[in-house]
Amino acid sequence: MIVKQNLTGFKKLIPNQVTLVAVSKTKPLVDIQEAYDAGQRVFGENKIQEMASKYESLPKDIQWHMIGHLQSNKVKYMAHFVDLIHGIDSFKTLKEINKQALKHNRVISCLLQAKIATEETKFGLSFENIEEILGSEELTQLKNIKITGLMGMASFSSDESVVSNEFKRLKLFYDKMNSLGAGFSILSMGMSGDYELAIANGSNMIRVGSAIFGARNYIA
Ligand SMILES: *Cc1c(COP(=O)(O)O)cnc(C)c1O
Repeated sequence: MIVKQNLTGFKKLIPNQVTLVAVSKTKPLVDIQEAYDAGQRVFGENKIQEMASKYESLPKDIQWHMIGHLQSNKVKYMAHFVDLIHGIDSFKTLKEINKQALKHNRVISCLLQAKIATEETKFGLSFENIEEILGSEELTQLKNIKITGLMGMASFSSDESVVSNEFKRLKLFYDKMNSLGAGFSILSMGMSGDYELAIANGSNMIRVGSAIFGARNYIA
């Protein structure tokens, strides 16, 4: 019951136009089913094989989002069902997704991950690289992917102004790309610890795990 309570409480805190991705990585099927029964349909995982096995076992109207860093050789295990891929940080990965999507006659929605945090460990593309990818002739050849927006992770900092400024920068860049015709509709930023700041700074999709499912037993 705790998942249902957490979820219901959490949903009251966020505006309607913000999509909640319930991050269920490392959590068992029963927890996901409980969230599903409470009305949640969008779930996020960070390991492709874990997501694929959960997909097999759970209701087929769940929208599965891949939020983790991608290994190109595993894209094939999710190409037939994944709804949105958040963490893309290379053109090579886009090409692989396109190739696998084509095999299933699908168009897979993708978000480019922007590096906004100052920490060394965070993955992501520079704004400059993103502009290059969006403007590249090669991208127009990839008919089986669609870049529908951007994703970013802020620094793990207790200084709210640092976190806010990182989100702000990404929102400005997102708007700039749209003004140049990118056609983005999704700005994925915000997690359990910083979703309020993310929403205040223009996020329309948050990825929330521990605030719904409780703490994970290990860092995933
Ligand atoms: C695990 C994870 C989340 C959710 O983190 P919580 O702090 O548990 O809300 C969000 N985004 C990404 C990319 C993650 O890997």
